Amino acid sequence: MAHAPLADPTSGDGVHDVPASAAPSASYRVSDLFRDTDEASHRVTGAEMRQEHEDALVRVRLGVAASLYATLRCKHQPTAAHSLRVALGCSLWAASRGVETAELDQLEVAALLHDVGKVGVPDELLMKPRRLSSDEAQLMNRHRKMGLYILLSCCESIEVMHIVGNAAAWYDGSRPGFELHGQDIPIGARMLSIVDAYDAMTTDHVYRPAMSRERALTELIECAGRQFDPDLVKEYVELQLGDITRLQASVAQRWLVQLDQDTANRFWGFNPQPWPQDAEPQLLFQQKLLDAMHDGVVFVDTKLEITLWNRGAERLTGIGRDAVIGHTWSADMIDLCEENGRTVTHVNCPVVNAAEHGRQAHRRMTIRGRDGKALQVNVHTVPVIGPNHTVFGATLVLHDASPESSLEEQCQQLHEQVTKDPLTQIANRAAFDQTHARFVSSHLASKSPYSLVITDIDHFKRINDTFGHQAGDEALVKFAALLRDGCRPGDLVARYGGEEFVVLCTNCDSAAAARRAEEVRQQIASTAMEMLDGQSITASFGVTDLRAGDTHDTMLRRADRALLTAKDQGRNRVEVIGDESPTQRNKRPGLFRRWFTRSDAAAVAGQDLITPVPLKVAIEKLRGFVADHGAELVKIHENDLILRIGGGAPLLRRTSDGAWSLLIEMSFSEQVLLRRSTAGQASDQLNTHVRVTIRPRRSRDAKHAEIREKAEQLLVSLRSYLMAHNAADDEDKGVLRRATTLVTTWLGSRGGGTP
Ligand code: GH3
Ligand code: MG
Ligand code: MG
Repeated sequence: MAHAPLADPTSGDGVHDVPASAAPSASYRVSDLFRDTDEASHRVTGAEMRQEHEDALVRVRLGVAASLYATLRCKHQPTAAHSLRVALGCSLWAASRGVETAELDQLEVAALLHDVGKVGVPDELLMKPRRLSSDEAQLMNRHRKMGLYILLSCCESIEVMHIVGNAAAWYDGSRPGFELHGQDIPIGARMLSIVDAYDAMTTDHVYRPAMSRERALTELIECAGRQFDPDLVKEYVELQLGDITRLQASVAQRWLVQLDQDTANRFWGFNPQPWPQDAEPQLLFQQKLLDAMHDGVVFVDTKLEITLWNRGAERLTGIGRDAVIGHTWSADMIDLCEENGRTVTHVNCPVVNAAEHGRQAHRRMTIRGRDGKALQVNVHTVPVIGPNHTVFGATLVLHDASPESSLEEQCQQLHEQVTKDPLTQIANRAAFDQTHARFVSSHLASKSPYSLVITDIDHFKRINDTFGHQAGDEALVKFAALLRDGCRPGDLVARYGGEEFVVLCTNCDSAAAARRAEEVRQQIASTAMEMLDGQSITASFGVTDLRAGDTHDTMLRRADRALLTAKDQGRNRVEVIGDESPTQRNKRPGLFRRWFTRSDAAAVAGQDLITPVPLKVAIEKLRGFVADHGAELVKIHENDLILRIGGGAPLLRRTSDGAWSLLIEMSFSEQVLLRRSTAGQASDQLNTHVRVTIRPRRSRDAKHAEIREKAEQLLVSLRSYLMAHNAADDEDKGVLRRATTLVTTWLGSRGGGTP
């Protein structure tokens, strides 16, 4: 029958008490020990007695290294008991073979400590009541290298190291990770491997009951040649089936003899060794990294027992690792608190949540620092989850956030300094400029409404003069607070300068913005101010909304014009310069038809526009455009005029001087449309027709995309100011006639060449 190789006894498959039937029981003291190990371990007296016996036996064999055995027992008592049984079994077998005392000593020591690396295996694996998954078995198998690492620094016997290092090798050399095979494997290792497997098979485990002695021996035979030395298996089976009473008595005698200290300690000394080549160097790297880290790192297992507390954690908390390793984690240990100072309970402790529920967290908290004062830390807790979603515990990383927070605070302070008005604590002019420009471009792109309110306190000079500058300041603070309270989330209120303020109303059309301005106006006018002897102040408001083709500057100037109108009209009022009607807006053609007056190559944009108002009104509207764009009237003749717009930021990256300017040529005429009422009565409707051509001042600029784009924007803006639409979109073409009222007349009547 093809037989699966035996499960490796050192890889977590078997480490528990051997059944009495399978144990080499003989001499009364030694058999007492075995009987004790077989008894229920929860019986304190039995357990204590066993421990005393074990201690005595192990001390003789191991000398100072008995502490390693004690460590293993503290970690996992069944593994320690298994090791002792295996050592006794090896001893008995070696005695039967007449092995020399020196070799026997080495074999016994190796057997006692062959599983010492299990101190590095998580308890969850050692105590798992089911068979280990392949990933878990892999994790478990790391105990061998850990065992070698532990022994390397204190064991001076190369023979003992060889036995321990090769005890898991397979006789046929097929086990990965082992170089030796066959007779090259030290005899002690080949023997240990058989006794180890036999004890594992004949022992009850949390995950499977013990096999019968016969079944276990059959297994050994079936794996002989592959896993085990076939000759040794034969010998061992014969030994187990024969009478071993005499042998047991001699083993007992040997084990109960007290050795002098030097003899007992002959294998041990301080032996600082480099990490073995084949042992996992990552572990060493990980250890170095953990110790070198500035951050505190803490490991806890699922029972919240602290298994690691690195130097960083010592530095941050002032608590040494010795004081906490092996203790149960609690947030109180380091006074872990929420950032707002609230104490952390078991339920909301991030470490507990990670270790018990597998939840990760990353947040700013405080701990008690080494000086006893609260210390800000970034706390990062990560559950350690193994294969099959098994949680092994959690890691806690504590990062000192105090330098960061002070830097954050400094940045915050700096930011406030440059963006906040110190008197009123609202945004300042710089913040307004930046935010307004951003809002203009984003709202133009999204085609959503955006309005600007600019307000100025009426006769503020008088207030200062009457009540003093201090009272004036207080009134400014009060007014700013009223404006801020009237703001919606996303809006911005800023002090533009002196007693002038602006409110940026996002996603809000001019009508809604005007209503809000009106509310504030009424409120301020009815708020009695203590510092003004119970009097109130008033303010004037200008409101406008974003139009196609607007820049931040044109929009601001338009709002300012509205404010001036409010002042002109008697103050304490709201004036609006609104957008064109929604119907007009909807009529906007998507693409502008290029139209060149004189097929002049230098023209970059143009259109025939119709505005449904008489020329006189159209000219009034044009004045707004001229004012807001800072345009200059360069030429006017009868109903033709040329405006120049330009300067500002360089438009052309390629031109050396960066200057740009565009000429807008306009030719006005009136359009008469014959309208017929339902009653059949005919009447004329007077529209204004404007032929527009935009060209760069220097014809060579015409080829630049930036100039063309700017020209298109101006055309859109102009159409918006004139409330005009593209004449090409009109179905009824009226009769064009030369305007009876000349443009010059209207411009002239307002005085000066520049409107
Ligand atoms: P109008 O209704 O036309 O706006 O009249 P006004 O007096 O408010 O306008 P004017 O521009 O003549 O005066 C503004 C005054 O605001 C003059 C200046 O002393 C005062 N002012 C500007 N900044 C401050 C400030 O920070 N604190 C105080 N107390 N007064 C200021
Ligand atoms: Mg004022
Ligand atoms: Mg003012």
